[in-house]
Amino acid sequence: MLIDGHGRKVDYLRISLTERCNFRCQYCMPEKPFSWVPKENLLSFEELFEFVKAAIDEGITKIRLTGGEPTLRADLDKFIKMIYDYSPGIDLAMTTNGYLLKDIAKALKEAGLKRLNISLDSLKPDVARLIAGKDVLKNVLEGIDAALDAGLKVKINMVPLKGVNDKEIVDVLNYAKERGMQVRFIEYMENIHAHSSLKGMHGKEILEHIKKEYEIEKIGRVGSSPAFLYKLKKSGYRFGLIDPHKHDFCESCNRIRLTAEGYLIPCLYFDEALSIKEAVERGDIDGAVKILKEVLANKPKENRWSEGESEASGRAFYETGG
Ligand code: SAM
Ligand code: SF4
Repeated sequence: MLIDGHGRKVDYLRISLTERCNFRCQYCMPEKPFSWVPKENLLSFEELFEFVKAAIDEGITKIRLTGGEPTLRADLDKFIKMIYDYSPGIDLAMTTNGYLLKDIAKALKEAGLKRLNISLDSLKPDVARLIAGKDVLKNVLEGIDAALDAGLKVKINMVPLKGVNDKEIVDVLNYAKERGMQVRFIEYMENIHAHSSLKGMHGKEILEHIKKEYEIEKIGRVGSSPAFLYKLKKSGYRFGLIDPHKHDFCESCNRIRLTAEGYLIPCLYFDEALSIKEAVERGDIDGAVKILKEVLANKPKENRWSEGESEASGRAFYETGG
């Protein structure tokens, strides 16, 4: 079992497969172009798999593939199958912008993927274009349909932004509700890579929008999920709010993040990280596990988004995978 320095059990590994992305979401990517990590610096799927096996043996029971955009990695279905074949019971999920899903959803499901979180910030083509930096909506909606058709369990992620998509909070909720998907509204987390003009919304403001249309009831946090659940009184439909500015979910944080380059990141907010790349490349998996335990021993108690709007993180979401 993996336990961090604050006594929290860590059983959830999030793996960013690439920092590259086919979108340029305003809240995630810098305004000015930047250079990508060279492909040869990425851990190969074979190298990643060696570490994943050891992490599962140490007590990891849930793995989420993310990015950047994970669907940009070739042979993604083969990597999923490698993990599934090693541990069919593992909770294997992925977070994606959905743009490329239409053609691969079925193969991913057949390979062993169980769940998908798909980002959907707007149902209006022009707003979706403004946020992502290109015309994305049609593909994303087709991707969601393909994922549902393939039998994947799908949740929708939306980051509400003042003056951008805040009028669509209820529309996105209704869209998800009609299709039997849970929607989770994520508070915008300030970071130095995002467009500087953005204004996020606090959970309370997001709930105010929903309360104009629906009577809602609190449910609470389920397990170690960062989402606080609510339900619509009449229909019982459940939705989530991820509110890192409150950071009470840090108490039950059970996750560790691995970047595509092999850095283990103990907390989404902070810059600290240690690399397992060299150890994995020389086949020293015990050494990589030792590094994992060292990172966990130094995992911070909580993030610092609650300390005010000025507390932007230096971490890039496209590196950490959110
Ligand atoms: N490209 C995939 C996607 O967009 O779903 C996976 C990676 S993305 C970094 C993972 C999640 O992080 C997405 O749901 C995205 O909306 C969220 N995210 C990115 N930047 C964020 C920010 N500044 N604040 C809150 N959520 C953010
Ligand atoms: Fe790409 Fe996801 Fe970041 Fe948007 S949020 S730029 S889709 S990594």
